[in-house]
Amino acid sequence: MLRPSLVDTHCHLGDTAFDADRDAVLAQAKALGVTHVVVIGESVAGSERAVALARGVAGLSATAGVHPHEASSWSDDARRRVRDLLAAPEVVAVGETGLDYHYMHSPRETQRASFEAQLQLGLELGKPVIVHARDADADMAAMLRALGPRPPVVVLHSFASGDHVWDAGMSIGAYFSFSGMITFKNWTQTGRLAVCPSDRLLVETDAPYLAPVPHRGKRNEPGFVRDVAARAAALRGETVETLTQRTTENARRCFGSRIDSSL
Ligand SMILES: [Zn+2]
Repeated sequence: MLRPSLVDTHCHLGDTAFDADRDAVLAQAKALGVTHVVVIGESVAGSERAVALARGVAGLSATAGVHPHEASSWSDDARRRVRDLLAAPEVVAVGETGLDYHYMHSPRETQRASFEAQLQLGLELGKPVIVHARDADADMAAMLRALGPRPPVVVLHSFASGDHVWDAGMSIGAYFSFSGMITFKNWTQTGRLAVCPSDRLLVETDAPYLAPVPHRGKRNEPGFVRDVAARAAALRGETVETLTQRTTENARRCFGSRIDSSL
């Protein structure tokens, strides 16, 4: 039987951690059954790099946006540049954006303004918005609910938030993307993964961060999304084939037909 194709929906492939061996990392991912990698932009410059990496390369897509850590750099000019990037055929989503009150690299109001502007961009351009949420549950839930009856498509990436964000995400039909955190011993939200509707579930690495067991402590790589998928399948009581097929279908529905192009 043909092994179903896997999609890593969140990878910081432009990170300097991959400068020495980016092509080899992608070849290894392909050997492990990964057909497509979504390369995340976390700043204007990072988004330009992500788009340059994905341009004309089958199996790679890019996103364009400004991470909550970088929210202080959001401006009219940043908005214009992100909007221009979003017009490129290889750019499938806005982000990553969101709220991070854990590190607080940017003030809360600045983070909220940048997040709000990027949610609106997603709505305006009909692109999904990739959302990072950490220690900001009340504001995150309120901002998602405020999107109303016609929200943009939202992806709650590396999902590990509490009930309020879960409920708000469910109420707007968000996708829930699970990372290597689900393989960690201290992962306590197994129930969430088990009850996530099968048409809302995505898998990702967030590489080079959050390497799953058995690679924990090492640099994470897109190929390791296989370990995330295996653990997700086990926690849901599904076969890896079923889990893989569903998450890949979801990635395609969420991000569009470019996901069909293969490494
Ligand atoms: Zn990320």
